[in-house]
Amino acid sequence: MTPPPAQQNGNGAAVESIHTPSAYGPKYADFLSRVDNFSIIESTLREGEQFANAFFDTETKIAIAKALDDFGVEYIELTSPAASEQSRQDCEAIAKLGLKAKILTHVRCHMDDARIAVETGVDGLDVVIGTSSFLREFSHGKDMTYITKQAIEVVNFIKSKGLEVRFSSEDSFRSDLVDLLNIYRAVDKIGVNRVGIADTVGCANPRQVYELVRTLRGVVSCDIECHFHDDTGCGIANAYAALEAGATHIDTSVLGIGERNGITPLGGFCARMYVANKEYVMGKYKLHKLRDIENLVADAVQIQVPFNNYITGYCAFTHKAGIHAKAILNNPSTYEILKPEDFGMTRYVSIGHRLTGWNAVKNRVHQLGLKLNDDDVKAVTAQIKELADIRPLNIDEVDTLLRKFHEDKKVGQESAAMSADDDEPN
Ligand SMILES: [Zn+2]
Repeated sequence: MTPPPAQQNGNGAAVESIHTPSAYGPKYADFLSRVDNFSIIESTLREGEQFANAFFDTETKIAIAKALDDFGVEYIELTSPAASEQSRQDCEAIAKLGLKAKILTHVRCHMDDARIAVETGVDGLDVVIGTSSFLREFSHGKDMTYITKQAIEVVNFIKSKGLEVRFSSEDSFRSDLVDLLNIYRAVDKIGVNRVGIADTVGCANPRQVYELVRTLRGVVSCDIECHFHDDTGCGIANAYAALEAGATHIDTSVLGIGERNGITPLGGFCARMYVANKEYVMGKYKLHKLRDIENLVADAVQIQVPFNNYITGYCAFTHKAGIHAKAILNNPSTYEILKPEDFGMTRYVSIGHRLTGWNAVKNRVHQLGLKLNDDDVKAVTAQIKELADIRPLNIDEVDTLLRKFHEDKKVGQESAAMSADDDEPN
């Protein structure tokens, strides 16, 4: 497609877009970009159910749905009611909760599944069919003419029931581009709400994503949803590239759980988008609830939150190197792009190790209300480093050392004062 003309002012010079991205947001005005106007389709209760450890009973599903709704996600996607009788009942139960988030269920592009799903009370259906040559040959065995005809029938049926409908291909990045664009154009013409691109196998990189979404943006007028698997660590970056190219909806799951090693994680995606446009993200989502939601899901699937998890990992806001600690204490933005307090987290400066610096130690001295001058702090820092060369010290051990140093100094000063008194002539 031809790129749209840039906005121009009276002198013919390009002007900034109406969006005001942060310093870390998109550099150039691009009115296709939806970086600051997107929706989350939260799929912990669909994709997440495909995680190896996942088994959600009804009560757990309801707790997760309520927590996600409270957090502020726009959509919650549920396992197909055609999967099992309990899945069908759970769809009905969650649809009845009256949540603010729209409730979707994810079904195969097949009339049998669509008929069951429209009766559950959900707000919309996400339908999916494999379009890659692999899936056409080894999975359902259908050709593109058949797939397109079926897609039109299913989309028309769902629309006739007054429900929202998305049509997605599966394994989109290994599908033929012409086939893909033809089928998306066909469903767009009959009024589908969204078309979906899915990197089902996790093979795509951000540049490929940008190109495909941008091409699709020129072909359809409906919304564009994207779903990225994280097999090669591109789940978040691909989601961001998709939004830059004009995608409107991103699929996530809590902690990224899903088939194999999962999809774009909700928390990491929020971190990425916060850095692009903090006000927009903080206005939409209760970021301080992330930790509780992650703990809820981690407990339900019996895993630990990873140590290096975005935002909530135990070291996400821990600063260690002396040179970092000094700058962080002077101005946190020096080494922090995410403000821990915006996520209900706290910063921690680690000082009981051999990389520590006297500025960080001085800060701890102040926190403890001890009175030591800079020379004292440098001396006690040398002691900490000496001990920490043998093994790292925990914060209690460091505090004990600081208090003892302070005490010794006081005793030293008092005895010096006393001996000075002794020297006084009578
Ligand atoms: Zn998936």
